[in-house]
Amino acid sequence: MRNFLKLLIVFMLFVPALLSQDKPPADVRFSVNMLDKSIDPCNDFYAYACSKWTAQNPIPADRSSWGRFNELQQRGEYIVRDILEKAAADRPGRSASEQKIGDYYASCMDEAAVEKAGIKPLEQDFHSITAIKSKEELTQEIVRLHREGTGVLFGFDSGSDFKNASQIIAQVDQGGMGMPDRDYYFKDDPKSVELRKKYVAHVARMFALLGDDEAKAAAEAKVVMEIETGLAKGALDQTSRRDPQKIYHKLSNQELAALSPAFNWNTYFESVGAPRFDSLNVVEPEFIKNMQEVIGAHSLDDWKTYLRWHTVHANAPMLPAAFVNENFDFFGKTMTGTKELRPRWKRCVGYTNGDLGELVGQLYVQQTFGAEGKERTLAMVGALEKALGEDIKSSPWMGADTKTQALVKLQAITNRIGYPDRWRDYSTLQIVRGDALGNSQRANQNDLQRRLNKIGKPLDKRDWDYPPMTVNANYDPNQNNITFPAGILQPPFYDNRADDAMNFGGIGAVIGHELTHGFDDEGSQFDADGNLRDWWTASDKKQFEERTGCIRDQYAKFVAVDDLKLNGKLTLGENTADNGGLHIAYMALLNTFAGKEPAPVEGLSAEQRFFLGWANVWCQNRTDALARMLVTVDPHSPGTNRVNGTVSNMPEFREAYHCAATAPMVNQNACRVW
Ligand SMILES: [Zn+2]
Repeated sequence: MRNFLKLLIVFMLFVPALLSQDKPPADVRFSVNMLDKSIDPCNDFYAYACSKWTAQNPIPADRSSWGRFNELQQRGEYIVRDILEKAAADRPGRSASEQKIGDYYASCMDEAAVEKAGIKPLEQDFHSITAIKSKEELTQEIVRLHREGTGVLFGFDSGSDFKNASQIIAQVDQGGMGMPDRDYYFKDDPKSVELRKKYVAHVARMFALLGDDEAKAAAEAKVVMEIETGLAKGALDQTSRRDPQKIYHKLSNQELAALSPAFNWNTYFESVGAPRFDSLNVVEPEFIKNMQEVIGAHSLDDWKTYLRWHTVHANAPMLPAAFVNENFDFFGKTMTGTKELRPRWKRCVGYTNGDLGELVGQLYVQQTFGAEGKERTLAMVGALEKALGEDIKSSPWMGADTKTQALVKLQAITNRIGYPDRWRDYSTLQIVRGDALGNSQRANQNDLQRRLNKIGKPLDKRDWDYPPMTVNANYDPNQNNITFPAGILQPPFYDNRADDAMNFGGIGAVIGHELTHGFDDEGSQFDADGNLRDWWTASDKKQFEERTGCIRDQYAKFVAVDDLKLNGKLTLGENTADNGGLHIAYMALLNTFAGKEPAPVEGLSAEQRFFLGWANVWCQNRTDALARMLVTVDPHSPGTNRVNGTVSNMPEFREAYHCAATAPMVNQNACRVW
């Protein structure tokens, strides 16, 4: 469990959801029986492709959303549970990896032991907080909590230097807020006001569970809310954080110290375990300046209260049921509309994947990942890169100089498929059977140390950010590479038994999506070497902004829930990637025909099946509460818009389904960047 707010610069395909419902793995292949023939595809293509699926697959009680991705994740969960249960059987001759993943999982599953221990595993933490005698001593306490994975006040990590991407530098970022975004602390619509009240009530109940009487707990919760609101004042919202210029401020250590003279940064950096450095990225200098004011504005006792809250908050999943349930009640039920807590084994699979992902992943790929999948995926990546190259060359709005630069960038993109070439080393991490909470804290500490050790070193592109069973994919603008873990190279994205049309509409368009991220409003600001450098001519940039502006305005009209519309600016990069990805996947598919149109399959032409391959992966249901939350924090559009928004911009779709020029799925002002 990691609580640091990671600098959001890696473009994932979607926001990873929590784990899933308890039902046997489903067959997730596309079937023509899924189509709702009563709906005209030209009126609502998403409904035509997905309404049967969404009707037959209501949101399980332990989820806030359910989509075809989740079916795939669910299959992965069962495979991982099997791996973990075998490793957990305490027998002689277990490998060191089996001991670690098996004992971690077994400790997490041992609910009786967790209940019996109560809050004892946190006693040392609370004692340490109580013992602070001055605000100067706060620094050491923040160090200790950060090392355990408790996200107080700010975040500290390593990351690429945006302007010298081959080097890893230190970075200080905003943090220390319990709610998902700074906007949650300030929005004044009735629903947001109500949510803040419920958050304060939740914090109070957590203090009460620690043994504080009602009046004291209520007063403490008020203090927590005041401090977090104070911190949020200096924080950037999610839309601003998509602008690389707004999250890159390389300062010397002295310049950082000048922003907040009362905070002893030298002590912090030395104690937290970072190698020596002279400069770093201060993601948001205003946050640090403001943080100092917040520290000054509250008493030492208030700060102890705040640290105590975050300690119980961060560790709640490994505490007795009363804490787990209270935590779920607010963050699950209230925040996302989930009705029930996931079964324990699914939570424990998730935590083991989170803390020991590359140990589990080694066994997972041995069992699931075949050579054929890797070869066909690589061939498809090649076909997509070729199509994007042709698209850039034939672009009607880009000048020759920018085209040359764009092609250099495209050629420099590297691919990571399946699993890392080198596995992460966990040899220094101690996993103790029976110590669920301690295992989690030690894993956090070990992983923070691993990341901090990179400071001052060259970027090592062999390191992956997530384990191979992950059902997701990403483009990293600092590394200029795309990553496709084994978890996503399965139906419905990729099917060994399916024809090219379905696979190009599925995984092909996803590959296109990730490649296009290198050329969306954010990714286009980085060059072939991953550096933040403007390689555009001014006039081409203007053309680009006009074209992305079309997409921004188109999606800003889509309604997410009630009268709440999508944020066109927050979702611009993802929508650009969806539109570009689908378009170049279509071009790549046509290239594979080499002039010969394949015969229809089940009465559907290859072109029709291609668009169904795309729609098929985005069928989903979500609660209103989640939809509301995602409008604020998620750069991705909901499935319905990912499907209808993209196809309505493509004349190729209109042709494939013979739509009238005035049909709803034909955007009169069609947007096109790539
Ligand atoms: Zn994306």
